[in-house]
Amino acid sequence: RAKAAGGGTVRFYTRDLSVFAAERVKLESALWSGLERSEFSLFYQPQVRVRDNAIVGAEALIRWQHPEFGMVYPARFIGLAEETGLIRPIGEWALVTANAQNRVWRSQGFPELRMAINVSTRQFRDGGILHSLQALLAAGELDPGSLELEVTESSMMDDMEESIGILNDLRALGASISLDDFGTGYSSLAYLRRLPVDRLKIDQSFVHDMESDPQKKTMIKEIIHLALAFNLGIIAEGVETSGELGFLAEHGCHEYQGYFYSRPVSASEFERLLRAPRTNG
Ligand code: C2E
Ligand code: MG
Ligand code: MG
Ligand code: MG
Repeated sequence: RAKAAGGGTVRFYTRDLSVFAAERVKLESALWSGLERSEFSLFYQPQVRVRDNAIVGAEALIRWQHPEFGMVYPARFIGLAEETGLIRPIGEWALVTANAQNRVWRSQGFPELRMAINVSTRQFRDGGILHSLQALLAAGELDPGSLELEVTESSMMDDMEESIGILNDLRALGASISLDDFGTGYSSLAYLRRLPVDRLKIDQSFVHDMESDPQKKTMIKEIIHLALAFNLGIIAEGVETSGELGFLAEHGCHEYQGYFYSRPVSASEFERLLRAPRTNG
């Protein structure tokens, strides 16, 4: 019963899992044993250049294949992993795995491919991500410029001065920084101007249903203009229709990702997409 992923089935899991989650201790120990039993995997979603529809990057998204509850999505366990500190070993595993996968792809004919990984507030603040990157670098396993760290605006806000320091340290190691879920936080323009980041990632809530919502379109235009004015890269997430892509293209958005091009897929499926003849968008 855990295999199919239809809408109804997902609801079923969700109810089961929330009974389970009501006992946090159980979920926590299931997360631990999940790590030990290698129940986690990474899916990859293409990040696509608007101009020529080329895949320029991958975003690694974690999945948990629980023996009883089936596929568990990060929304259901990342929060608890953060609270309990389990995000440290999980995040470390995700970084090492995604980086290793990217090195394989880069060596197999896609030397420019970029790998984006999501960094939680805790990994960012406690120096965990910095140390993991340093370890990879020391082992000679990190290609400079190949890794992008997705951090959220809200992770930055607790302590702006400290955040700027950490971001500079991460960039000094050769990682680039993308501000995920951009537009949903409360950071002011003055803050944004000071944050050493490379790219803004337009949150999918603006993209969703934008075609029937003039305010969303306005927000998207403003965010794109902001990125261009600050000389930042700009990527939109959650793009599901050709109309949405058309609007983004018209307003100069550099890159996009979303179901319109591909859902997050397994490594082997991603490789198939990389090798597939390019379709013109
Ligand atoms: P996010 O980084 O903002 O990722 C975007 C989410 O949108 C992903 O959900 C992705 O599967 C989904 N998505 C992509 N394209 C579309 C689309 O066209 N339409 C719709 N409706 N959704 C789309 P997912 O994989 O469930 O991940 C949810 C969140 O969990 C991520 O949000 C990220 O914050 C977190 N996450 C995922 N993997 C990791 C990880 O390895 N470490 C940490 N710390 N957080 C992670
Ligand atoms: Mg992300
Ligand atoms: Mg996002
Ligand atoms: Mg998100």
